[in-house]
This record gives sequence, C-alpha cells and structure tokens, in this order.
Amino acid sequence: MKIIAVNAGSSSLKFQLLTMPEEHEITSGLVERIGYDNAVFTIKVNGEKIKKEQSILNHKTAVELVVKGLLENKIIDSIEEINGVGHRVVQGGEIFKDSVIITDDVIKDIISLNDLAPLHNPANITGIKAFRELLPNVIQVAVFDTTFHQTMKEDAFLYATPYEWYQKYGVRKYGFHGTSHQYVSERALELLDNPKAKIIVAHLGNGASLCAVDAGKSVDTSMGLTPLEGIPMGTRSGNIDPSVLMLVSQKEDKTYGEVLNDLNKHSGYLGVSGISNDSRDIVDNMHKGHHRATLAHKVQIKRIADYIGSYYVYMGGLDAICFTAGIGENAPEIRQDVIEAVKVLGVELDPVENQKRGEHLISSKQSKIKVFIIPTNEEVMIAREVMRLK
Ligand code: AMP
Repeated sequence: MKIIAVNAGSSSLKFQLLTMPEEHEITSGLVERIGYDNAVFTIKVNGEKIKKEQSILNHKTAVELVVKGLLENKIIDSIEEINGVGHRVVQGGEIFKDSVIITDDVIKDIISLNDLAPLHNPANITGIKAFRELLPNVIQVAVFDTTFHQTMKEDAFLYATPYEWYQKYGVRKYGFHGTSHQYVSERALELLDNPKAKIIVAHLGNGASLCAVDAGKSVDTSMGLTPLEGIPMGTRSGNIDPSVLMLVSQKEDKTYGEVLNDLNKHSGYLGVSGISNDSRDIVDNMHKGHHRATLAHKVQIKRIADYIGSYYVYMGGLDAICFTAGIGENAPEIRQDVIEAVKVLGVELDPVENQKRGEHLISSKQSKIKVFIIPTNEEVMIAREVMRLK
C-alpha cells in the first residue's frame, strides 16, 4: 500500500511516498518557490536528486507536477497506486483531538482556526485542496502538530491571562512538533520496554521544542499559542517578557507585527550571535572564541536546562531524555552541554557513544537517567495515521 505524506507551506510543498505498513520510503521531494516563474521541483530517483526549474504558479500545479514526476520516473505505474494522502496541518486547536479523515466540514473547521496560525494553516489548506482535486477518490487525512499535546491538563496549557481571552479567542498553549514528539516518545517507550516511562523529548532543529511525556501522553511542552514560545531557536527568541514588544516598537518606530517578525525571524542563535541561525556556524565560532556565538549557545543551553528541570519536577521523576531533529541528532557538543547543565539529576553521557550517529543509547552505564538519540520521522507518523483511519 502506498501513502503520500505531505507538508505544504505557503510557497513550498514537501512530500514523501512510503509503502505501508513496511514504513519504507520509496521517494521524497520538494517543490519550492510556488507562485514564481523560477520555482524548483526536486524528486529523488534511485537515491539521486533530480532538480528542475520551471514556472509553478500555484499549489494545484505543484501537486500535478509531483504526480507527473512519480509517473514519468516510473516510481508508480498509475495514479491508482496511491492509496492515501496524509497532510501535516500545523494548528488543530481544541477542535481536533485526533487525526481526522478530511471532508468539506473538516476543511471549514481548519479554516476556522486560521487566526491561531495565520502563517501556516492557510498554506496547509491549499495543499489539501490541491490533492483532493487531483485524487478525489483517495482517502485524505489531516494530522495536526497540536493533537499530541491535547492531553495537557489545564494547569499546563492555560496562561495566567484573563480567562475570557481563553474562552473568547482560544488564547492558551497548544504546542507543536506533535508528530515528532509522538514518534520519538513511542520509540523511546519501546527501547525502554516500559509503557509507563517518563520521558523528555528534546526536538532541537531550526525550530526547537521540548515535550514532557508521561506514560505515552504529552503532559507539557515548551511551544505555546504559536511556535514562538519556549527555548531560543535558530531565529526565534523563545520566551521573553511581552513588554519588550512595546518598548522596541516605540524605540524603533515599528508596529507590533514588525517586532513580532523580529522575534520570529531575527532572534535566537541569529539575533544573539549576529552570525548565523545554523548551529554548525555557532559551534564553529564558539571554538574560535567568538563571544556572541558562545553566548547564543549558552543562553540556549540554560533555557533547555530550565525546562528539563521543570519537567522533572512536574512529572515527579524522569526515565529518559531523547534528542532528535537536526541539532539533536547531529551536534554532540550541544547534547554534551545540555546534559552537563542538568547533571544534578544524576544524568551522564558516555562520551564515545555521544560522538556516534543514529538511534542508540548515549548515556553512561552509571547514569540514573537514560539518554538516547532517536532520529525523528514525521512522515512515517503521518502515514501511520492514514493507515489507522483507513
Ligand atoms: P532541522 O530544522 O531539524 O532540519 O535542523 C536544522 C538545524 O540542524 C541547523 O541548525 C543545522 O545546523 C543542524 N544540523 C543539521 N545537520 C547537522 C550536522 N550534520 N551537524 C550539526 N548540525 C546539524
């Protein structure tokens, strides 16, 4: 059975074709710069990336191109071979407590959440509509970044703001990266052979969030109403005092929207270091003694440690910390410094194992808390959801 996992952004569309239930990737690809004359379509054929530049003016054309690419490169023989499509949708609000088969009503409900995710949900809908038009008889499933966190209790998700804001506008913490946190924590429970284990997943990529998972359920997570809350990231500030918004908007004669954009796009690693949003540049420059690169790193480590400590207390213990995503899977120095910052919990790395890649245990034998690298796979999680709802 062949399933496509789709991640549509405002000007991009990522896809992966998998065979299920084997969870084997057949191919993957990407359409970038949708809406432009010089859009780029990339598809992997026999492990090699084929790139084509051409005009792709909308998502419908992008989806047609993806299907044509699959046929022309003989990855599939006919369109009937596609048995299901899973769509990543960023914000499911409180409406979607589970993944769902997409109908006209579901689309209306997702659109009703646009205020909560103005940058993401409209783009996700565009992708959904394009695939539904091209494959009207194929099951399409929406898999939300927020669903996994819908098990958080009120004390974890509610902001201490006027309660009416929550009632009227849905102002609360939703959390994101849900498919990743779910995939990694499910795998950790298997590795620990303990379905009741208490786990912290550190999804550290350009976007980054932590999640406290107790017996398979998300009980707290660092991102909030939007992905801006939490730890500092590649370009996002993470938590700040909201009064900064007013001060900077007055000083720099900017609107709140513009300052928010600075907090989303010009902060984090990039803002503090003044060099780059890429952890590799931060680590390289730190080795060269660059003060602000070192500071960008230290600020992030401190905040990650704050969350780990808080989740340890909130869950009343901890069995494992799992590192995932671009930085979590590939940056040994950063893993080392995170674990060093929380060593009071009795956790310690094996320095040799920490240098290796791929899914494995990296804590020392005497460590009280196990530490794993578990490469995330959001596409597999999406395809699993399609299979479950078929
Ligand atoms: P993601 O958003 O999960 O794709 O992660 C992007 C981040 O992962 C960037 O900061 C990259 O510097 C980092 N990253 C990706 N690959 C590597 C690598 N091989 N070594 C160190 N960092 C990496």
